[in-house]
Amino acid sequence: MKPTVITGLQWGDEGKGKVIDLLASRYDATVRFNGGNNAGHTVKNGDKTLHFSLIPSAALHEQKILISQAVAINPEVLLNEIAMLKKLGVEVDLGIDPRCHVVVPYHQALDGASEASKGKAKTGSLGLGIGFTFEDRTNRAGIRMEDLVQPKVLEEKLRQNWTLKKKRVTEAYGQNFNLVLKDVIKTYTSYGRRLKQYLLPVAEYTLENMDKERFLFESAQGFYLDFVFGTYPYTVAYHTIASSALPAIGLPPMNLKVVGIAKAYTTRVGNGPFPTEQDNDIGQHLRDKGHEYGTVSKRPRRCGWFDLEMVRKACQMSGVNTLVLTKLDVLSGLKKIKVKTKDGYEEFTGWDEDITGIRQWSKLPVACRRYVVYLEKQLQVPIQYLSVGPDRKQTIKKVSHAR
Ligand code: GDP
Repeated sequence: MKPTVITGLQWGDEGKGKVIDLLASRYDATVRFNGGNNAGHTVKNGDKTLHFSLIPSAALHEQKILISQAVAINPEVLLNEIAMLKKLGVEVDLGIDPRCHVVVPYHQALDGASEASKGKAKTGSLGLGIGFTFEDRTNRAGIRMEDLVQPKVLEEKLRQNWTLKKKRVTEAYGQNFNLVLKDVIKTYTSYGRRLKQYLLPVAEYTLENMDKERFLFESAQGFYLDFVFGTYPYTVAYHTIASSALPAIGLPPMNLKVVGIAKAYTTRVGNGPFPTEQDNDIGQHLRDKGHEYGTVSKRPRRCGWFDLEMVRKACQMSGVNTLVLTKLDVLSGLKKIKVKTKDGYEEFTGWDEDITGIRQWSKLPVACRRYVVYLEKQLQVPIQYLSVGPDRKQTIKKVSHAR
């Protein structure tokens, strides 16, 4: 069976967490394949609301939960997530690739110092050190999970890096560096001791089990945060394009099923271009109704209309086979709804009804169905599900009108 990739088609926060949780029961294993704890997924199931930033959103299902080499691991965050799940009685069958790079406090110091030194040209980094962890990976100065679990190697590598990082923070960026090497060695050695049990060569595991198990590949962020194909430099430091799942896990060329997630409108966190932004009452409606505040950062998200060309290109480049349109309920109550096309804006009549309790396509207001059918026809990709609320149950299976 072809593996399935779940990928966001805008600037992230499309609701991938909910969709992964919804679909995960059909799979034997989920592999998170990029990003770090700069991503946040929210999974709501009944009265449980869980925020994950490293552990795949399928964690509530009984299956193999894997983290591939292209995920930057902040050990403290990971241990907290494992503990949070344990508290809920969930024992995750977790495997972490030993090639994953580790976020060290000097990466966070560099991130904060570099943003502080940029003034107005800030990229909107959260200061979590993810970009700097990937920089070290590229420059072959990184610390991998396999190093974290070997105290001598870990200490040697931390010592090697320390002076240069300190100089960069203090001399190049002119900021304070308050970290103490021996404390970091001690803390990180203890993280290594606690995380050693989870190491598993995820690349080899996935390859070996490809014919026996059904795999779901989970992407963090969205297409336009890809560091090449997104709105560079207002991007993350790695690929988010769906095909990047293969090298990010360590797989040969193969066919993938790609499920694209798009919000029924657009949001973005941080700086950078946003052609359909509504810095007005409409944006405020979307922000309030959609709770558009970052899972990790809590920053208010910028909100605007659906951008057809943007999502169309993401569908093409990521090879999207089916779509899930999320947060449709957030549009309820708007008089007019607009969609950006090549030539300007297409305008639709809104609907007043609360649709969060609706479970059937035919029960949705006519104006709502008209909006969805338009998007599907224009994008030329079938919309399989509509999401009308954060809960797993608040989902409508849709019959396709695309072709
Ligand atoms: P992700 O990073 O793509 O998983 O997205 P986030 O978890 O950051 O943001 C999605 C937010 O929207 C979460 O708080 C979800 O619980 C919530 N959500 C997901 N789908 C829907 C939906 O259809 N309607 C509403 N109102 N909220 C949703």
